[in-house]
Amino acid sequence: MAQQRIAILGVAVDNLTEGETLAQIDALIVAGGSHHIVTVNPEFVMEAQVNPAFRSVLAHADIATADGFGLLLAARYLGTPLRGRVTGVELTLRLAELATAQGYRMFLLGAAPGVAEETARVLQVRYPGLLIAGVFAGSPQPCHEPFLRQIIAAAQPQILLVAYGHPQQDLWIARNQPFLQVPLAMGVGGTFDYLSGRVPRAPALIRRLGLEWIYRLARQPSRWRRIVNAVPRFAWRVITQVRRASRS
Ligand code: UDP
Repeated sequence: MAQQRIAILGVAVDNLTEGETLAQIDALIVAGGSHHIVTVNPEFVMEAQVNPAFRSVLAHADIATADGFGLLLAARYLGTPLRGRVTGVELTLRLAELATAQGYRMFLLGAAPGVAEETARVLQVRYPGLLIAGVFAGSPQPCHEPFLRQIIAAAQPQILLVAYGHPQQDLWIARNQPFLQVPLAMGVGGTFDYLSGRVPRAPALIRRLGLEWIYRLARQPSRWRRIVNAVPRFAWRVITQVRRASRS
């Protein structure tokens, strides 16, 4: 059966459950080559409206998961409901579990100095035997790319997680994947900050109710501009798209 992709304001996301996503990821790693997973949230969709390079990277990703409650609401409103939410944080945990079971090596790139190391420690406590090929904060600036390529290629991971925030992390992966030949690379945004405990994650109930943005606003008021873009502006764009389509 062909995989269903659902377009939200021109950005396609795969209509997959977490289990299906993981099974596909495992198949991609086994197949070899190099693959890119993106975890799309409303901020990604809004950025794609004004950033053609990012839009193209999202369109060419091997798997685009729906990370963000807003995407599920938008898809339902557009008449093409998604079957589930697959977040970068959950996927990172499931990938670490898969890596432990299959002996895959993980490389954690990005976040503030020390955060990737702490994340690796947390993951290894949770998944004893997990092989960490390397950790490095580095920087998404192009001048640092040759060095980063060198250390990642030398570490030979099967899974590369890049925490430089969007759109930089996914543009970084798209530019560097051809030189790295890592079977699987995924941009993970603030995942290392959450897993290392540096930034508290909203309680599960708040996440399930889709109210994570209120929690974030209260904890990190400096993000208000980003939250306005991800919540009311995104909702308005979706509503106007539906109105325009019903008029034409
Ligand atoms: N980051 C980084 N270098 C940069 C910009 C960002 O290491 O030049 C890291 C930052 O420390 C954080 C992550 O990228 O760990 C971005 O987190 P955020 O929650 O903003 O990402 P989002 O999930 O919203 O894309």
